[in-house]
Amino acid sequence: KAKAEDGHAHSYVNDATQADHSRYQEGQQCNNCVFWQGEEQNGWGSCSHPSFSDVLVNAEGWCGVYAPAG
Ligand code: SF4
Repeated sequence: KAKAEDGHAHSYVNDATQADHSRYQEGQQCNNCVFWQGEEQNGWGSCSHPSFSDVLVNAEGWCGVYAPAG
């Protein structure tokens, strides 16, 4: 799978600290999101949200449908 680019869907960014979104809160990032499926290669992994089924997302990324794991 290709690596997601900024803006892929839902205001996605590869660097969560660059999120420009009203829902973003410090500390949130893909690898602590309920949709994160685990690292696959060098900090990138799959996201189970349908909008990201065709790409890898960055462990330190973020998007507007973030929801905390656990
Ligand atoms: Fe990252 Fe979660 Fe958005 Fe997927 S749903 S891109 S894991 S913040």
